[in-house]
Amino acid sequence: MTTTATSGTTPATTPGVSVATRDVHLSFATNHVLRGVTLDVPAASTTCVIGPSGSGKSTLLRVVNRLLEPDSGDVLLEGRSVLADDPDELRQRVGMVFQHFNLFPHKTVRDNITLGLTRLRGLSKDEAAEQALVQLDRVGLRHKADVRPGTLSGGQQQRVAIARALAMQPQVMLFDEATSALDPELVKGVLATMADLAAGGMTMLVVTHEMGFARSVADQVLFMDRGVVVESGSPDTVFEDARSDRLRRFLSQVL
Ligand code: ADP
Ligand code: MG
Repeated sequence: MTTTATSGTTPATTPGVSVATRDVHLSFATNHVLRGVTLDVPAASTTCVIGPSGSGKSTLLRVVNRLLEPDSGDVLLEGRSVLADDPDELRQRVGMVFQHFNLFPHKTVRDNITLGLTRLRGLSKDEAAEQALVQLDRVGLRHKADVRPGTLSGGQQQRVAIARALAMQPQVMLFDEATSALDPELVKGVLATMADLAAGGMTMLVVTHEMGFARSVADQVLFMDRGVVVESGSPDTVFEDARSDRLRRFLSQVL
């Protein structure tokens, strides 16, 4: 016997929309980090970004999320430039999950999720609490709503962070090495949650070192090196048919 999570007034998810960048450049002082990045993630598809450390992957995600402004180029949602929009508004449409989940340790799991909903979304406490349970259900942690994050495993905490991002009803989700800080035995559960999201029609841009995930879940894989997309294509093309020495060298190190 199971009970349903909610009265059903709160949709669990919004449909994903396409996200794209056009010739994005960004420098930190004299360090030209993004050197003309163009990418297209179709609605409800998953793109994995792979590449060596320092190649600009995190910077790229931060540009898409408007945590950083590009020096030139464009960021598009549903084909429309978002660079003139209010960044706070955009960040509600584009959720992000980081390597370090940064949950508030003194708040319950539920309150970690409701905080943004009452403050940014203007939901009532009850509406926010209901939405929190919907999302916790989705990541399999409804039964942990009342505990503090410190009592959870790292993998469970990351799933709470995913639920927190989903509660804002984003149209695109960005993941920046979401499993890199986890003990190996905890990685699988988080990747399974991400795969569920992808299967559910979310648009996802995922920076990852998990090549198995990229192979099995991604519709498209981008290989970045030194601020450019060196190669892109289906997982089969990128993993089996690398054209550049740079990608072949990278794959020989990680596979
Ligand atoms: P990746 O995620 O692929 O490892 P990053 O995007 O984090 O790469 O970093 C790309 C380059 O940008 C690196 O040389 C890094 O030192 C530099 N960088 C990243 N963030 C900042 C910042 N806030 N200030 C100055 N330099 C930065
Ligand atoms: Mg990074």
